[in-house]
Amino acid sequence: MANNYLETLYAGWGQQFVMDEILFEAQTEHQHLVIFNNAQWGRVMALDGVIQTTEKDEFVYHEMMVHVPLLSHGSAQSVLIIGGGDGGILREVLKHPTVKQVTQVEIDQQVIDLCKEYLPNHSAGAYENPRANIVIGDGVEFVNQTQQKFDIIISDSTDPMGPGEVLFTSRFYQGIASCLNEGGIFVAQNGVSFLQTQEVITTAKRLAPLFDQASFYTAAVPTYVGGIMTFAWATNQLAHKNVALATLEARYQAANLQTRFYTPSLHQASFALPQYIMEALHNG
Ligand code: SAM
Repeated sequence: MANNYLETLYAGWGQQFVMDEILFEAQTEHQHLVIFNNAQWGRVMALDGVIQTTEKDEFVYHEMMVHVPLLSHGSAQSVLIIGGGDGGILREVLKHPTVKQVTQVEIDQQVIDLCKEYLPNHSAGAYENPRANIVIGDGVEFVNQTQQKFDIIISDSTDPMGPGEVLFTSRFYQGIASCLNEGGIFVAQNGVSFLQTQEVITTAKRLAPLFDQASFYTAAVPTYVGGIMTFAWATNQLAHKNVALATLEARYQAANLQTRFYTPSLHQASFALPQYIMEALHNG
């Protein structure tokens, strides 16, 4: 499946990383994993041939995936992360003092172990935080079986291929809706918008019947092909999407956040979608 997805999506073009030094490579129980050094991007991890994260720009993606929902919500205490094996999402969630517990459901223990060893600054000790509860398992099964409910759910999955394919299905989104608290927010990486407009439309159609608001926001993530990462956004609390700038700034200060990419102004601007995505969603 991995090759078919990649061949379809990147037919005729793509990006190349020179692997200056391979630090670790293996076929895990679930996917092919390689971690290598690259002169420009530092240490890089790829799963099934798709770049997941680099030392140089990981903060862009992890900050925007976490602080947009958490500062929109304003008082989240319980967070669920699906995937996220490199630990960057967990690290950023734990920066919020309102968060009492984070449950992370990651299918591949080896990704966690190897990222702790070769990309230690991604998790930066987050896996040892007493507020972190790590579950090794399939995210789609977890959300459809758990009795727990969460204020924020973040799906930091691989692309819709291999083990990640199930995390882009209606069954997964139905499970999300069933374990999201009233007023909760769900966000998910939904591909790079310039290439994956159809995925944006498909996700919107699958989320719309389950939530009062299914939308998207974007961030410029340099190493994801196409440069603009699209994040799916879903909530039944309409007010969360249009939080006043002054409120976001107050919450940012109250949390004493230290960020390198995220700002409250950028947060607000990230919901302004390119014309071609709005047209695709409208005509979808
Ligand atoms: N930031 C990256 C991106 O946007 O492509 C994703 C980071 S993280 C490495 C993706 C994680 O999703 C991997 O650790 C992978 O093992 C995990 N994963 C894939 N399918 C999963 C599933 N069905 N349940 C739980 N975790 C899954």
